[in-house]
Amino acid sequence: MAHEREGLLQAIERDRERILDFYRGFIRAKSPNPPGDTREAAAHIGKLLSGEAVQYRTIAPKSEMPNIVASFEGGAGGRHLVLNGHIDVFPVGEGLGWTQDPWGAALVDGRIYGRGACDMKAGTTASIFTYLYLSRIRDKLKGKLTLTCVSDEETFGPWGARYLIEHHPEVRGDCLLNGEPSGLGTIRFGEKGPLWLAFTIRTPGAHGAYTHFSASATKIAGRLIAELEAVTRIPARPPDNVVRALEAAAPAVDAAMGKGAAAIVPKVTLNIGVIHGGLKVNMVPGECRLEADIRLPLGVEKEEVMREVRRIAAGFPEVGLEEINYSAPSWCDPFGEMVEILRANVKQLSGVTPVPIVSLGGTDARLWRYKGVPAYVYGPPPFGMGSYDEHVRVEDFFRVVSTHVLSAYDYLSRG
Ligand SMILES: [Zn+2]
Repeated sequence: MAHEREGLLQAIERDRERILDFYRGFIRAKSPNPPGDTREAAAHIGKLLSGEAVQYRTIAPKSEMPNIVASFEGGAGGRHLVLNGHIDVFPVGEGLGWTQDPWGAALVDGRIYGRGACDMKAGTTASIFTYLYLSRIRDKLKGKLTLTCVSDEETFGPWGARYLIEHHPEVRGDCLLNGEPSGLGTIRFGEKGPLWLAFTIRTPGAHGAYTHFSASATKIAGRLIAELEAVTRIPARPPDNVVRALEAAAPAVDAAMGKGAAAIVPKVTLNIGVIHGGLKVNMVPGECRLEADIRLPLGVEKEEVMREVRRIAAGFPEVGLEEINYSAPSWCDPFGEMVEILRANVKQLSGVTPVPIVSLGGTDARLWRYKGVPAYVYGPPPFGMGSYDEHVRVEDFFRVVSTHVLSAYDYLSRG
């Protein structure tokens, strides 16, 4: 076993240029979502796999958003590990703030720059090479390995992971490993659940001097927003092992997601992301629309939040309420086997012992957790994620690749 692991690390070392070239080419193959046309980036993966004579399937319920799926059986029976990464990336917009070409994958001072560099073409590259290396020694492995490279993560995956999970149950497996950005010091075993709500406030409206004619939709919005803050006081009741993990991880959570993050991981948060109201300074607004992004921690039910929201909204007869989007919070065992495997490998490769945490943002890993499959995320630090000058240090990139390769190997070497 030690010999096999050594062989895998040597292969990565020998192939450094090739792996890096693949990763940079993957960034250059633009795949912003929206619009979400990932054909060029998916073809980049297909070319690598075909060149290695690795068989794969393209599953494309929406033709411009293909998913790549590959699977092999080991030499003996065992458990089924699934690797998952997404192909699409955030859009760049006007490219404000970028000092490098967002689609250039420039290598500057030991860093690779580009949209998707950390979210998540580094992690998806790690999954792809993990699959490639382990397929070469499949006879020595137990169980089964599946690779899923999906489109459409940035828009919640109706044509990507969600489609595969529902229509291709063979991709569910016994455990999932995903390389979304996490930072090298944390492993993510759960994530909060976004609940997006829209409030529309309608009043007759009037001339701005005739305030006796109509209530103001924007003033009602202001009072409504202040009252909605009550949802952040709904208490969470997570399971004991999650509480223990989160308490132990507080410093690492702040280090990975910014000071203050640990305090909000176990809490309901409220963000009013959009307010649209009023046409002109001298008119009493007759309409205002608010969009609220409420994040549910582990141990809070959607219905509890909705009950509170409906109670508040009932105090404003002018308010209409509509749900835009919801994904339940998800988690799996913070001290599960894959966590132990990842911790040991990260310690060996980087000298740090990562801690299990819950992430604030969402990933496709939740879809596996919903099906009862333990799903863990370990990937590069999120430098510039969703912002400008997104980048990954080359050394961090190779740590992620090596960690995934060794961890998948370890999982499939055990009976
Ligand atoms: Zn992502």
